[in-house]
Amino acid sequence: MLSCDLAPLRPCDLAPLRPCDLAPLLSRALVNEPMSLHTSFRIGGPADLYVVATSAQELVELVSLAREQGLPYLIIGRGTNVLVADEGVRGLVIENGGQEICFEDDAVLYAESGASLKDLAHESARRGLGGLEWAVGIPGSVGGAIVGNAGAYGCYVGDVARKATVLAADGTVRELSAEEMGFGYRTSRFKGQAGEGKQEIILSAEFVLHAEPAHALAEKMADYTRRREASQPTEPSAGSVFKRTKQYPAGFLIEQAGLKGARIGDAQISPKHANFIVNLGQARAADVKALVDLAQQRVRERFGVELELEIELVGEWNG
Ligand SMILES: Cc1cc2nc3c(=O)[nH]c(=O)nc-3n(C[C@H](O)[C@H](O)[C@H](O)COP(=O)(O)OP(=O)(O)OC[C@H]3O[C@@H](n4cnc5c(N)ncnc54)[C@H](O)[C@@H]3O)c2cc1C
Repeated sequence: MLSCDLAPLRPCDLAPLRPCDLAPLLSRALVNEPMSLHTSFRIGGPADLYVVATSAQELVELVSLAREQGLPYLIIGRGTNVLVADEGVRGLVIENGGQEICFEDDAVLYAESGASLKDLAHESARRGLGGLEWAVGIPGSVGGAIVGNAGAYGCYVGDVARKATVLAADGTVRELSAEEMGFGYRTSRFKGQAGEGKQEIILSAEFVLHAEPAHALAEKMADYTRRREASQPTEPSAGSVFKRTKQYPAGFLIEQAGLKGARIGDAQISPKHANFIVNLGQARAADVKALVDLAQQRVRERFGVELELEIELVGEWNG
């Protein structure tokens, strides 16, 4: 039995779509909303329409509406792993704000996909449940974390996610097992679907944790936090820009290629950590992209290695 009421989390519990209820949802939408206000990079041009879904139910309703109307749409969680184009995003951007979480007696945690991964880590640890403490410094949502199989210190979301409830491309709501989610290093079956009409939308997820003393978890989390503070920049960024290569961390290769501290406009390859690009104030997406291209080119020339993006470029890049 669930210890709290999480109706939207189970496919069978989602209420049927009622078109007459949809108008109020869209009337809340902001017009020409700067995406720079909603991304950790503090970069990104205007979204034609921007709306916050306050629950998994509203997320289903908004995506279904956009699909029915043929309106392009983009889901974002906390906007901490995306670079939004200076031209912005056409159509509807839906910020996933469903925050409900709930614990079952035997160390199972259910969370709506808009919930903060950090909050999950803290709340689990407080209850003496281990398995997510490594996520303490990751500023994204559960949905975004599943898409990119977020991880740190050798642990990954895919290690503890048992299943997810998703809105499929055909409009049905179904459960996917961990195996079906296709987790890999910084990837899953959902990665790369953003902006496509056929995107599968993660509504909620279920995590299996384990009993561990709260004080031990608190110590680990404090240690992870110290390590991040010592190694990562504090200016706006989207975390690691590139995936680790087979042999070396991307930051090491970028540093060896002589690019630590390189700057284009107000975008800079962080002098503290070369796999972070930071926004020194007024950086444009084009500046960040130019640094991405430069890093890829230099590392290719110098080491014959192709750096693969971990962050996603979304919005109107071709315009
Ligand atoms: C300072 C800093 C440190 C970081 N450290 C780490 C780290 O240690 N490890 C790590 O893995 N990452 C790290 N990141 C990157 C980022 O926080 C994670 O990848 C996070 O999981 C992204 O979640 P989000 O909600 O911000 O996703 P967003 O950036 O909002 O979205 C990312 C992608 O997921 C899609 N998406 C989001 N929600 C859903 C949904 N419900 N259904 C379907 N698609 C969805 C979006 O469309 C987009 O394509 C860091 C970022 C920063 C800024």
